[in-house]
Amino acid sequence: MVAQVVILLGPPGAGKGTQARRLSADLGVPHVATGDMFRANVEEGTELGRRAQEFMNTGRLVPDDLVTEMLFVRVDGVDCGDGFVLDGFPRTVGQADTLDRGMDGRWTSSVASLEVPDEALVERASGRLLCREDGNHIHHAIFSPPVTEGVCDQCGGALYRRDDDVPEVVAERLRVYREQTAPVIEHYAQNGRLLPVDGNQSPDDVHRALRETLGSSTVEGGK
Ligand code: ADP
Ligand code: ADP
Repeated sequence: MVAQVVILLGPPGAGKGTQARRLSADLGVPHVATGDMFRANVEEGTELGRRAQEFMNTGRLVPDDLVTEMLFVRVDGVDCGDGFVLDGFPRTVGQADTLDRGMDGRWTSSVASLEVPDEALVERASGRLLCREDGNHIHHAIFSPPVTEGVCDQCGGALYRRDDDVPEVVAERLRVYREQTAPVIEHYAQNGRLLPVDGNQSPDDVHRALRETLGSSTVEGGK
């Protein structure tokens, strides 16, 4: 059987990370998030992190060649052999074309897009709190506040706000999304592969809607 990849698209703050984490647990496959990978590189002070940081801090996209190389090194890992949940990639039509070619024969994919209005995106991004120990432990100052302020509910790590979640950079990220990533949604819609999901409901309801949309064949038998 060809392994299955779930591609989760959506604007900044739409809930991709929150949902990808849950789907990856459902399916028992890794959650591969290009934004998390860049943040880890920045934290570790690697050359890739240094090059990516100037783009991330100003809300622009990291150039395609840097992102695609990083992604394919990651998904060539043995743990991705049975599939993975992809969050934050592709963000340009060029990346989508490279992904389509790279997956050919190795994986099949389902493409879901989370639809959330701009006002909610700004609220979500501006209250986002991430855990220093595990970037997958996502909280929100208002919508999912930690029990103890500043402390991750899951692991006790310190919570922080992303440098790019300030209003000016969020506005730029939304502009870049409309300009460079909206055509990716169009690309999959034209191929008849896009599965739109209402992301403007509670995280549990979005999760349920995603599972229903992706179908029981994709999300079953996981852990
Ligand atoms: P969000 O959670 O807001 O969607 P991410 O954490 O996925 O943001 O990404 C943070 C930043 O990392 C982006 O603004 C961009 O600079 C960079 N980045 C992540 N993925 C990609 C990608 N596929 N192509 C280009 N840049 C990317
Ligand atoms: P993305 O990866 O698309 O940028 P995240 O999953 O990091 O988005 O979510 C952005 C912020 O919004 C986080 O603080 C998260 O806790 C919160 N959030 C995610 N999904 C929802 C939802 N359905 N309703 C309200 N807040 C949400």
